[in-house]
Amino acid sequence: MKSIAVFCGSSIGASEAYRQGAILLGKEFAKRKITLIYGGSSIGVMGTLADTVLQEGGKVIGVIPTLLAEREISHQHLTELIIVNSMHERKSKMMELADGFIALPGGPGTLEEFFEVFTWSQIGLHQKPCGILNVNHYYDLLISLFDHMQNEQFLQPQYRNAVLVDSDVSGLLEKFSSYTPPTIKTYRKN
Ligand code: AMP
Repeated sequence: MKSIAVFCGSSIGASEAYRQGAILLGKEFAKRKITLIYGGSSIGVMGTLADTVLQEGGKVIGVIPTLLAEREISHQHLTELIIVNSMHERKSKMMELADGFIALPGGPGTLEEFFEVFTWSQIGLHQKPCGILNVNHYYDLLISLFDHMQNEQFLQPQYRNAVLVDSDVSGLLEKFSSYTPPTIKTYRKN
């Protein structure tokens, strides 16, 4: 796995644990020579993650739309900063550049980005792994919601299981290495 896109908060969160989670992931990327693809911002969990990969000698590619370049304070010291015209272009560029996707803690923007890659994997638009790094139990409620969706038959077990979850960075990356994509989603009549 040469590059992974990470979706994460433009805020740093209430607990120091979120910063530490970003630092642990960033160090592991640099150690494993995985290029970080991310939203190009210098603030929040995004900024901490990018700074860590760079400090540890790794490569970081940021993808930011002109609309947000100033507002989110784009990072000025990345290996490469790609400026795009729209949010849609940002997501498709990140999808094209990455071999897999990870969500770190974040807000609605993070979830929107993660759900797009997850749902695109269900319908076979890509075969890349999607994972959640469950730092500080942040995503416990979302994971319960996935279980609820499966129990209520709105999410098939193979797609539920396709979302790789771990609270440990190495554990999650090992799951990425042995990932087998699910078969493409089919639909049945009521
Ligand atoms: P947040 O998790 O809300 O702090 O946002 C994290 C990142 O997601 C930021 O870089 C936002 O610009 C980005 N973002 C917010 N809304 C969207 C959206 N609708 N589509 C794609 N990215 C978004």
